[in-house]
Amino acid sequence: MDELLRHDAVQALSGAYGRASVTEAARVVLSDLRAAIARGEVDDAGLEGARDGLAAALCNKLEQDAQCSLRRVINATGVLIHTNLGRSPLSPKVVQHIAEITTGYSNLEFDLEKGERGSRNQHAQNLFERLFARHGIQEARTAVVNNNAAAVMLALAALAEGGEVIVSRGELVEIGGSFRIPDIMARSGAILHEVGTTNRTRVGDYEQAINERTKLLLRVHRSNFEIVGFTERPELSELVELGRRKGIPVMEDLGSGALVDLLELGIRDEPNVYDSLHAGVALVTYSGDKLLGGPQAGLLSGEPALVQKIAKHPLFRALRADKLCYAALEATLLSYLREEYDEIPLLRMMRTPLAEVRRRCEALAAVVPEFAAELLPTEAMIGGGAAAGKSLPSFAVALLPGADGANALARRLRELAVPVIARVEQDRVLLDLRTVPPEEDAYLAQVLRGLTL
Ligand SMILES: *Cc1c(COP(=O)(O)O)cnc(C)c1O
Repeated sequence: MDELLRHDAVQALSGAYGRASVTEAARVVLSDLRAAIARGEVDDAGLEGARDGLAAALCNKLEQDAQCSLRRVINATGVLIHTNLGRSPLSPKVVQHIAEITTGYSNLEFDLEKGERGSRNQHAQNLFERLFARHGIQEARTAVVNNNAAAVMLALAALAEGGEVIVSRGELVEIGGSFRIPDIMARSGAILHEVGTTNRTRVGDYEQAINERTKLLLRVHRSNFEIVGFTERPELSELVELGRRKGIPVMEDLGSGALVDLLELGIRDEPNVYDSLHAGVALVTYSGDKLLGGPQAGLLSGEPALVQKIAKHPLFRALRADKLCYAALEATLLSYLREEYDEIPLLRMMRTPLAEVRRRCEALAAVVPEFAAELLPTEAMIGGGAAAGKSLPSFAVALLPGADGANALARRLRELAVPVIARVEQDRVLLDLRTVPPEEDAYLAQVLRGLTL
């Protein structure tokens, strides 16, 4: 150990990585060597060689250990909102605002005019109000929490604790991991009152179930599955009408939370936040990092009295969003207000003309002939439990792998300095460029040319 630490090359490393890190890494490198000797893998001659290689091994280990665990990757899967890959990317403008607000102090909860305590929620509130007003929605307030799962949990706790919430059996969903409506309901202290059947629920089913304990009618968007065939469910407006008649608010867990007309992007039958508010729901909950294209957040928009009740609930404090989130959210909302949709990376990818994706795929395929690269029409999925089965037409470069097969090639792409995440289909590796920003095309071409089969 002493000998290794006194080595000239290792002495130099101490300056770069710190003495403690060098000592830790040296311990690991030496113990690996001892294990190899014990297994009889290193003889005396090898030991001479190993001695020379130890400093290099140490250097490698230090470099590895100094890397952050979170790494930038290139998403060539064609899944636009990929929860495993961090959902919506943020624009440089948004990141610049985050940097400006968080490298120093800010007026997060400080009213600059009055010189006294303010509310962090104001920062998002005003922008949402302006955006809603533009779509003919007056009098809707918005509160921000950590994510949409938190928003649903909080809304149920604040508006229905101890009372009943009526939900269709066709909407008792699980959204990724452990977000299950019945479980969230139980945790919130509200009592689930199921109505209808898996495939068919009528407005009359809700009406029959209403009693003096009913606090909410809950509608849950089927974000990640579809029910097809012999199906029925009431229009949102029918539920709202029933709720008005009975004096019970309708809450909708919309999930994806689009703030643009999705039909204009070629996505049918996918409601946005304005649609829900226009239909008259009292409260709609949605994510910040799905179709909205902003940071992870849970948004609750609706009637001022309800949003106020929610913001005063003790859980609101426990689930609150931080200053990075507010900074990212307001910068994103400002892009919407300026109607600069291409500033929002997710919308830019969705709005890219098919011909443009095709042209980029052709250019990439042309520079990697050794993979017998071919242009392939694909469907880029919206994903992320945002819009079940919905997709946008796209193109991919299909790479024919060498003898090791497609999975081995996909693995090598993941091992690159900036890992490339591809899709494997029918023993070919597909790179769908709809989810790759054009600025990354040059890098893709360069690394593919560097790979040998
Ligand atoms: C995605 C989704 C959620 C969970 O939202 P997170 O922001 O991931 O917490 C809840 N409900 C619906 C309908 C969803 O689509």
